[in-house]
Amino acid sequence: MITNKAKKRVLQVVGEWVPIMGLEWYTINHQFNEATDSSDEQTQATTNTTWYYREATMTWHLPKLALLEDDELENVVVHELVHILLDPIHPEGDGINHHLEYATECLARALLAARKA
Ligand SMILES: [Zn+2]
Repeated sequence: MITNKAKKRVLQVVGEWVPIMGLEWYTINHQFNEATDSSDEQTQATTNTTWYYREATMTWHLPKLALLEDDELENVVVHELVHILLDPIHPEGDGINHHLEYATECLARALLAARKA
């Protein structure tokens, strides 16, 4: 099944990047969403962090991730892991913070570029 392969690819990339980013001291839970009718068509993954307990739950939308090339999938994984690092400076409250989202994506791209250098 295509989503099983996507799940395996996600966990492999997470396993590669967690030690690089110093996140071994976090408890990271993974949820795998196999639904194809998600209400949010854009969302490939989400990360919710209880940073003061060093816990995070990453939710992966497998049908969307299954369509990605390896480098695109790696970009999504690193982006979500950067969210764990930056969540302590995320203002309290709901809603997307575009400044933080921008910082997250910039850091993810810098990390990916540095690793390939
Ligand atoms: Zn994000």
